[in-house]
Amino acid sequence: MRHYLIFILLLNLCINCTAQDFDWKSNTSPSYVELIEFYKKCAKENKSVELYNMGNSDAGIPIYLCIYNGAGDSLKTFQKARKSTTLLVNNAIHAGEPDGVNASAMWLLNLMHQKSNTNDPLIAIIPAYNVGGMLNRNSTSRANQDGPEVYGFRGSARNYDLNRDFIKMDAQNTFTFAKIFHTLDPDVFVDTHVSNGADYTYTLTYISSMKERMAPSIKEITYEALLPELNQKLALYPYVELKGRTPEDGIVAFNDLPRYAMGYANLFNAISFTVETHMLKPFPERVLSTYDFINELHLWLKLNSKKVELAREHAFLFHKQQEYFKFNYTLSSVADSILFKGYKATYPVHPVTQLPRLNYDRNQRYERFIPYYNTHFPKDSIRIPDFYIIKGSELEVINRLQQNEVAMERIIKGSAWLDRNYFRDVEIKSFQSYNKPYEGHFKHHTIEVDSKLILGGVSEGDYVISTQQNKRLFICSVLEPLAEDSYFSWNFFDSYLQQKEYFSSYVFIDKIAEILEKNPSLKQIYEEKKKNNQEFRESETLQLNFIYEHSAYFEPSYMKLPILKFFKAK
Ligand SMILES: [Zn+2]
Repeated sequence: MRHYLIFILLLNLCINCTAQDFDWKSNTSPSYVELIEFYKKCAKENKSVELYNMGNSDAGIPIYLCIYNGAGDSLKTFQKARKSTTLLVNNAIHAGEPDGVNASAMWLLNLMHQKSNTNDPLIAIIPAYNVGGMLNRNSTSRANQDGPEVYGFRGSARNYDLNRDFIKMDAQNTFTFAKIFHTLDPDVFVDTHVSNGADYTYTLTYISSMKERMAPSIKEITYEALLPELNQKLALYPYVELKGRTPEDGIVAFNDLPRYAMGYANLFNAISFTVETHMLKPFPERVLSTYDFINELHLWLKLNSKKVELAREHAFLFHKQQEYFKFNYTLSSVADSILFKGYKATYPVHPVTQLPRLNYDRNQRYERFIPYYNTHFPKDSIRIPDFYIIKGSELEVINRLQQNEVAMERIIKGSAWLDRNYFRDVEIKSFQSYNKPYEGHFKHHTIEVDSKLILGGVSEGDYVISTQQNKRLFICSVLEPLAEDSYFSWNFFDSYLQQKEYFSSYVFIDKIAEILEKNPSLKQIYEEKKKNNQEFRESETLQLNFIYEHSAYFEPSYMKLPILKFFKAK
């Protein structure tokens, strides 16, 4: 709240300041107050520009959305966005990388000087998303970056990397983003960044979504229509993610998991890009490359909006027809080949360390084909149920699903769901967890699950989620525990991983004869185990545990996720 008041105060003081005259082409990037002031002024002066406060950030200060070519008021504008073609540009998710902040402002100024056509794609710009990071201004946190003079910090107000937060949604910013994203339903999405890593000649590299996760229609329009055309106009290059120490060893295609902005957008069939300008190129040059990218993308979208709309329609249909959800995409060792314009890597001895150091010699340029590892294959898949059922008590998960506009039905008294008999449960058989926190979580991995057919189990207040909806890919990505960014992996169901009740051996031992007598098949397994397993035979604890775990005394909730699956009879 304190931050918010200071912000409003500064904004009012700035009403007539020089934000509009900000030199966007210089080696400077505006503060958040200056930036929002600029957008407010644009919205005031130009009827094609609208600015909306879309909700809070972790810093307690709003995240804004600028719309160009809207319909004049929020309701109509957002309706128009959903119906027509929309390009969404997100800036400063890493506030130390503000190239898109300047580029988008310059782009808006340019658009304002053009004649706006109401049939053109609607343009949506998040001026700066990581508001907390924008307020944390400094000149040192981007140790390897050439400008601007002052910039924000990568972490949010609560020190989250917002570009890992799209599924777990720890930050308030992410709730606001989900609102922006689903209100607009963008067809094309761009997230602007500055790279780290190797030195090479290209100013701008791009990441497009992993092609194997895309629906065929989106893959085709992205890789066979859009990118070849952009490549003709701009000196584009795929993101240089190194396979080894230098680019000569090859580059790899990025696996844009749903936790990342573009991976998240891809779950909703938006054509998604991350643009990465090169940190060692001067800031003004980087800003211009980002500007050119979004500008060319917009020009292409203007001419191809119908094709994009159709590709998205086909994509939603395609996903609804898939019987299996594929995940655990792994990079293939088979490489393609791609022409690379780089600088020779040399290893002179450094006078201080007395050790060879990596140096990219800008005087020794080369052009050669390098390996390009750009094929992933899914290691796992799972049959998609017709419905998922979530226990009504799982408010955190239900809230996140609702924020993502997943259609769901609350089971009320008299619902036919209460009379349905057979469901599949979801039991965690084993898992491992990282022993250091990653983005605020001790994330689980190497997960094994089991699923049994069970009788009943649905109650009033639970939620039923049909998988026959446009959010199908998102639903599977978060509810299938084995998926890389599942809610289970992000610790939302940890309370089910601990046993709550136990027994005292000296009391329980008096019950085991009766338990085994009533359950002959259990008795048979128990006797065989005793006969074949010496350790088991000689341990009272192991024997009692075995009988306890297979008896009615054992708690059914242990390791069982509060999720059921329902498959329609075929
Ligand atoms: Zn970044």
